Amino acid sequence: MIGYLYDSDFSLHDTGEHLENRHRTESIDEMVKEKYELIHIPTRVGDKEELCAVHDISYIDWIENGYENGIRNIISADTIVSSESYDVALKAATSTKNVITAFKEGIIKKAFLNLRPPGHHAEVITGQGFCIFNNIAMMARYAQDIGYRKVLIIDFDVHHGNGTQDIFYDDESVFFISFHERNNYPFTGSEDEKGGGFTKNIPYKDNIEDDEFLALFEQLPKDFDFDIVLVSAGYDLMSDELISSANISYEGLSKMVEKILEFTGDKPIAFLLEGGYNINSLVKSVDITIENMVNYSQ
Ligand SMILES: [Zn+2]
Repeated sequence: MIGYLYDSDFSLHDTGEHLENRHRTESIDEMVKEKYELIHIPTRVGDKEELCAVHDISYIDWIENGYENGIRNIISADTIVSSESYDVALKAATSTKNVITAFKEGIIKKAFLNLRPPGHHAEVITGQGFCIFNNIAMMARYAQDIGYRKVLIIDFDVHHGNGTQDIFYDDESVFFISFHERNNYPFTGSEDEKGGGFTKNIPYKDNIEDDEFLALFEQLPKDFDFDIVLVSAGYDLMSDELISSANISYEGLSKMVEKILEFTGDKPIAFLLEGGYNINSLVKSVDITIENMVNYSQ
């Protein structure tokens, strides 16, 4: 009853030697194929208009035409657009809907989405931080469209999910909680950014260790009666990642995933890939996530 979404076309978003590259999703897929028998959720190419659920049309147009206009980097030097990037990002963001449909039809109860480009830094009118379109926001809006009224988004990527926060800041039907390193990109997400009361930021200190990190998860919102949980699963918080100072072990990660699954109970839950750039660590971390999902389902 665990769904898995992946498409080899995700590799067509060509970022060259950039940290966020095709080897990430390809390596995860090799591990998943070898080790697990999950229910494959097909991808789809949605219409451009679907993206308007979370992005401004002027931004979508700009990305669509960006490469032709000779723009290789959007917003800042960190986010690359190659000739195929628009199509791949459109496919990643709109394919998330198929996972929601599979939940609704009772085909799956849990899912892992091995997709790229990542999405949680993409705001309504701009992409950044290796992100083009906000996959998890698209998924949340579609979940609501087909009856999952209240959505809980948990973001454990080491960086603040500023894009997701931006999209749902004044929305009482989507609770967004982000655990992230305070002194790290994009330097947003302080405790006092609360939006309409359904945004909760939990920034933490440099060099955080397992125990202190796990204790933060006691702050998951107990009085938000969610219908579905979506997780921005960024694995750049692991100890062997160079992009952060966080010191989370595999055991710590496993306990965190367990806590999230316990908190979710029998509601549907999906983990969407965000960061994680050390390939060995990334593959092992996703393995731990899926293994916990399998164990929790039995
Ligand atoms: Zn990150």
